[in-house]
Amino acid sequence: MFVNGALQPARRHTTVHDRWTGEPVGTVPRDGAEEAAAAVAALAAGRRATTPQQRSAVLTRAADMLTARAEEFSTLITAESGVCRKETLREVSRAAGNLRVAAAEAERIRGESIPLPDGTRLAVTLPEPVGVVLGITPFNRPLNQVVVKAAPALAAGCPLLLKPSEKTPLTALAFAELLVEAGCAKDMLAVVTGEPGEVGPPLAAHPDVAMVTFTGSVATGHAVAAQAAGKRQLLELGGNDPLFVLPDADLRRAAKLAADGSCATAGQSCRGIKRVFVWEEVADEFTALLEPAVAAKRAGDPRREDTDLGPLVSEEAALVVERRIARAVRDGARLVTGGERDGALVRPAVLDHVPPDTELVTEETFGPVAPVIRVRDADEAVRLSNGTAYGLQAGVLTRDSAAFWDIAARLRVGAVNLGEGPHFDSPHIPFGGVKSSGVGREGIRYAIAEMTVTKTVTLPGP
Ligand code: NAD
Repeated sequence: MFVNGALQPARRHTTVHDRWTGEPVGTVPRDGAEEAAAAVAALAAGRRATTPQQRSAVLTRAADMLTARAEEFSTLITAESGVCRKETLREVSRAAGNLRVAAAEAERIRGESIPLPDGTRLAVTLPEPVGVVLGITPFNRPLNQVVVKAAPALAAGCPLLLKPSEKTPLTALAFAELLVEAGCAKDMLAVVTGEPGEVGPPLAAHPDVAMVTFTGSVATGHAVAAQAAGKRQLLELGGNDPLFVLPDADLRRAAKLAADGSCATAGQSCRGIKRVFVWEEVADEFTALLEPAVAAKRAGDPRREDTDLGPLVSEEAALVVERRIARAVRDGARLVTGGERDGALVRPAVLDHVPPDTELVTEETFGPVAPVIRVRDADEAVRLSNGTAYGLQAGVLTRDSAAFWDIAARLRVGAVNLGEGPHFDSPHIPFGGVKSSGVGREGIRYAIAEMTVTKTVTLPGP
């Protein structure tokens, strides 16, 4: 485990392999329940107050250091996740951006004064750090997923305990070292690595952990939520995000957005485009534009500058995608391009006439697939869109603002973007889902709010 500012000697280790070459990239401790308890104790014992200015300075230095070491972090993320270099360079810059926003927000955490109506007393609210925050993160953005937990926690003054994905633990450890170099107090940060079944439950259930902020799949998130019953919880879970292409949309732009949004991170993104609802009258023209846009994406060695998508995180993950594509075709879809699998690599695919009840689109399919579902009108599109367990984000492409508001008002999702894909994001806005897609909101300011508790003081009025 990483406590007291350094990785401690471990009894057992796990080797992390490069997702493309299979070469070893490094080793991490295989911690167990004992280390989990020791990591919580190291944080819970040494807690003391820091000023907003101190916290802000650490976050700013961390952003500067990350920017200076972008190359090194990008190389590490690409090696352990298989995400292509173009995207991991962007991920580092996004992570630095999140740290900078957190640095600014750390100085804006404030309460309010409430004069009581009869003039006798005044109430003042004091936002206080919630306590030890446990951050459990997924494999798909090994740095930024850690940063969106760490930055608000440190801004809010909460000690942070990280449990990164067992598939991508090296980036989290490298970032923890960077935070300590940036001046983060050694008793404010710990990282536990290992098999999730061994370290997850003792961490999530630990009485000295005040809050769990989890990003990952619905099934795991619900299991972690049960383990952490009674604690503050922020759950960012799976998505099945739609793009709506109305007949008046700019179809060229729609095809580009659909291609980019379905292939980003090789389709392994919670807010990637997982379904494209296209109005029947423009579907032929749209699919004819989508096919070359997707086929032009280069799949292959993620270390190359010109690669658009690398392998999926494992061959098993790729087999699931291959099986769901085949099933969709059996159910009546037309495979327009792609879909071939070579080990963990899946060529980006376009499917047309996808039946809305096939597993490819009822479940979250974590692979580079753009499934076109033809619809008659907004009623049908909204009904199908709302018809799965998920509700993260959506994109609507139309020039008609009344049509947009009609759809936006009826969609059960956390965010709707007009003229953009569901994948639009900014550290300044709330992010999170409804239904099985999650509980609570990220976005730096909103995550800080989740990580503070209000203490109210009342006193005689002036
Ligand atoms: P996952 O659920 O397999 O794992 C997520 C994390 O949970 C990992 O750190 C894993 O080690 C840990 N974990 C697994 N079992 C555990 C247990 N019993 N106790 C405690 N922790 C345990 O998810 P994944 O495959 O790494 O990531 C992909 C999923 O994450 C997709 O469903 C994707 O949509 C979702 N995701 C959501 C968002 C969002 O913000 N909504 C962002 C990225 C990814």
